[in-house]
Amino acid sequence: MINVTKAYLPDQEQYIKYVREIWDRGYLTNNGPLVQELEAKLKEYLNVDYLYFCGNGTIVLQIAMKALEIKGDVITTPFSYCATSNVILWENCTPVFVDIDPETFNINADLIEAAITPETTAILATHVYGNPCDVEKIEEVAKKHNLKVIYDGAHAFGVTYKGKSLFSYGDLSTCSFHATKVFHTIEGGALISNHPELDKELHLLRAFGHKGDEEYYFAGINGKNSEFHAAMGLCNLPNVPDIIAARKEIFDWYDGFLNWDILSKPKISSDIDYNYAYYPVVFPSEKVLRNVQQALAAEDIIPRRYFYPSLNTLAFMPKNISCPVSEDMSERVLSLPLYVGLPLPDVERISKIINGHLSP
Ligand SMILES: *Cc1c(COP(=O)(O)O)cnc(C)c1O
Repeated sequence: MINVTKAYLPDQEQYIKYVREIWDRGYLTNNGPLVQELEAKLKEYLNVDYLYFCGNGTIVLQIAMKALEIKGDVITTPFSYCATSNVILWENCTPVFVDIDPETFNINADLIEAAITPETTAILATHVYGNPCDVEKIEEVAKKHNLKVIYDGAHAFGVTYKGKSLFSYGDLSTCSFHATKVFHTIEGGALISNHPELDKELHLLRAFGHKGDEEYYFAGINGKNSEFHAAMGLCNLPNVPDIIAARKEIFDWYDGFLNWDILSKPKISSDIDYNYAYYPVVFPSEKVLRNVQQALAAEDIIPRRYFYPSLNTLAFMPKNISCPVSEDMSERVLSLPLYVGLPLPDVERISKIINGHLSP
């Protein structure tokens, strides 16, 4: 079976070496030495000053919302994984969906201003597929209306924009280190901050708002991650340049094989060092997409509909927000298998099956 992705596994002996160290120390979690080492190495790799390794890519969004005291209406994208908008509801705020740009699939920054209400306090946008949002325009609108900006950078590990980590834009950024992502710690995530003044609070928010024996500050949450997860990160991090290079090679193979007279794909910004996180292709209609999906499934090839449906259409979201571009794209886009070790003949076979099922 060929799935949309396959978790990268590092050298087993190296991981076991870390596990033996953990056994020897008997210290399994609570900001242990491996968690601290991973945080230091991630800061260096990403060239960011404040980074907090946490349990997953969702809890970091929740912590970000709390840290910035976000209330009321939050402008967000309908084209993302459901975690992005679920978090807004979970924090008792209201998602206000703003449609996407048809070229980049990111929130259309030109439409944000019109969606601002007196209750709007923040923008929570996703760098979809690791492709940067229009961070300059978003910053301009946010400044003008005094809004906080959080980026869901779950797909953006290692991406630089204009020479800087994409995580350095906005008030806070998050990343997911889930097993399916470009860099992973099995389960995990990180909060990246540009705010030295939030440092103590972010440490505390991650750990119950509690320190030592007697210091209880506020109601925090458990966003911690363990030494075992940090060990996986320490094994994987040195391999990230090779992982990204291997992904790029597969990306280029698809680019060469697929029929671009009929298919299209999102436009990747030219100002970036990209991480090749996903390989989305857009079909002329949902019917063609379903035909292709069926033909691939018959060969045990399972791409995924990243992202479908458009989040504004979910039954538990606020009604009557129409996002025609996102609704249209989400019906027609499929992410193709892309992972380290996917061989060239398979990429060619997948492409041939797709090309052979494009008639309307
Ligand atoms: C994967 C993902 C998340 C959630 O990350 P977890 O680590 O699985 O909690 C959030 N947002 C987006 C856009 C994602 O793709």
